[in-house]
Amino acid sequence: MKKKKLIIVGGGTAGWMAALMLQKYVSDCWDIALIESSKRGVIGVGEGSTPALKQFFDEVGIPEESWMPACGATYKTGITFDSWAGKTGFDSYFHPFYSHFDRDHVKALVHNSLLRRAGKDAHAHPDVFSYNHYLAKKKLCPVPPYHFPFEIQYGYHFDAGLLAQFLKKTAVERGVNHTDRLISDVQLGADGQIAAVIDEHGEHYCADWFIDCSGFAALLIGGALGVPFKSYADSLWNDSAVTLAMPAEDEPACETVSTALKHGWAWRIPLQSRVGYGYVYSSRYTSREDAEAELRAHAAAGAGTEVRHLSMRVGRREYHWVKNCVAVGLSQGFIEPLEATSLALTQQTISRFIHAFKDGNTTQDFVDIFNRAVNKSYDDVRDYISVHFLTNSRTDSPYWVDNRERPGPVSKEVKAVFSCWFDSGDLPGLLKHLKIDGAYSNHSWHYILCGMGVFPDAADLSPVTEEDRGKVDLERICDFFNRCAINHESHKDALEKLVNGSASGN
Ligand SMILES: Cc1cc2nc3c(=O)[nH]c(=O)nc-3n(C[C@H](O)[C@H](O)[C@H](O)COP(=O)(O)OP(=O)(O)OC[C@H]3O[C@@H](n4cnc5c(N)ncnc54)[C@H](O)[C@@H]3O)c2cc1C
Repeated sequence: MKKKKLIIVGGGTAGWMAALMLQKYVSDCWDIALIESSKRGVIGVGEGSTPALKQFFDEVGIPEESWMPACGATYKTGITFDSWAGKTGFDSYFHPFYSHFDRDHVKALVHNSLLRRAGKDAHAHPDVFSYNHYLAKKKLCPVPPYHFPFEIQYGYHFDAGLLAQFLKKTAVERGVNHTDRLISDVQLGADGQIAAVIDEHGEHYCADWFIDCSGFAALLIGGALGVPFKSYADSLWNDSAVTLAMPAEDEPACETVSTALKHGWAWRIPLQSRVGYGYVYSSRYTSREDAEAELRAHAAAGAGTEVRHLSMRVGRREYHWVKNCVAVGLSQGFIEPLEATSLALTQQTISRFIHAFKDGNTTQDFVDIFNRAVNKSYDDVRDYISVHFLTNSRTDSPYWVDNRERPGPVSKEVKAVFSCWFDSGDLPGLLKHLKIDGAYSNHSWHYILCGMGVFPDAADLSPVTEEDRGKVDLERICDFFNRCAINHESHKDALEKLVNGSASGN
């Protein structure tokens, strides 16, 4: 039987991830081709992931020994948020990835947070309850040692340009057809379906299906099919970024650090070959020049250090799958990278699409379900990100005061979470009821609300009694972490082994 044809337009990380997944799951019936233009290039930023990236590599069968050295990658246990709350005792907190045995430690955190929310002086800063926080502070590799009985989730930091190149090489080796052409037009059929994409020399590339991975250009979903863009700019105000790179550390950290600055926040991402910095800010509150100066000072970067300025369009398409086209990656939407969620959303969209597509579930009912699910994922991430800004207590600039006191629209879900929190309600139950614990679990909601110190003022607290304290024993948790951590090698040693193993072809 003759195979049908599917064309992916765009060869950034999103395009090549889609290509590898489609090649794996549908290449028995479909020819997979990817067209990109070296005249446009890839965005080349985005250096942090969630644990979803590990699932992706596991799924397409690419081991860490193979891709991590090629992409200068390091391990990531979570994100430290520095200077966000501006409250005594809550100047910094860690948002860890899930670790199996933190399940019980989060119960202890929930217990203490309920006491604290009720005005009792219980220890409710989240860091002592998290194993990944412990690993980050000790710079230990999060990969569970052999025979370790607990699952530890982790993500990665990587060089975005090298990652796209690595994925491209692998996808082409696995049979994806690659063409370097600038697409300048799109031909629609009488039924409104995409019939072909057309390059600058007038050559037509016909296919039965198209995946739009053309980045912010959104050539197919926005340009040809005219699907409206739903902006999040009213609630998330950051629309610009400036980035720079500093020399690598001798002992690379295994965490991202996100520091609140005067008009936004800055990431610090350790790679094998450098440390990447980026300041994400609102152009309504500061100029490009001032943002650059603030980032240089924050990173201690001299005048000779090159910087790159970028604009960001924050929001999502109203639909991601229309007719015979699905948008994946920046073409479908983007939320500022505070929790490094973009690639995870990209990957989720690809998986959802393949799940329906390979089973032939392409009726309008399925398409509607798909679009609702993808929209919900984006909206849920937007809500969680917005809480970082809504709960800040900083007073050093109008940006922070406005974010807290004069925010844009707050979703009904976030309002319900705040009401529940302040009324000492059952937060896990509410998250389930609202169906918003898929994007961020009860753990994550506790880390952020406790970490930002969303509690009655310290001066108003009353002492905890022995009965209040219950079974929570902080010393025992710390002792348990100390014992477990003996099993981990240092982050530095683990990276050196990966690099040397790959260099010697092991
Ligand atoms: C400041 C910033 C920080 C970020 N940080 C993170 C992070 O920490 N974690 C994370 O997960 N994500 C992050 N992201 C998002 C991340 O960069 C993207 O999700 C990821 O790189 C995928 O991009 P893409 O493949 O959709 O688009 P791109 O990389 O822009 O690729 C677009 C492709 O389309 C092609 N193309 C465009 N126009 C044409 C044309 N006319 N003809 C032919 N081809 C064309 C280009 O050649 C290119 O191959 C960040 C983004 C920004 C802006």
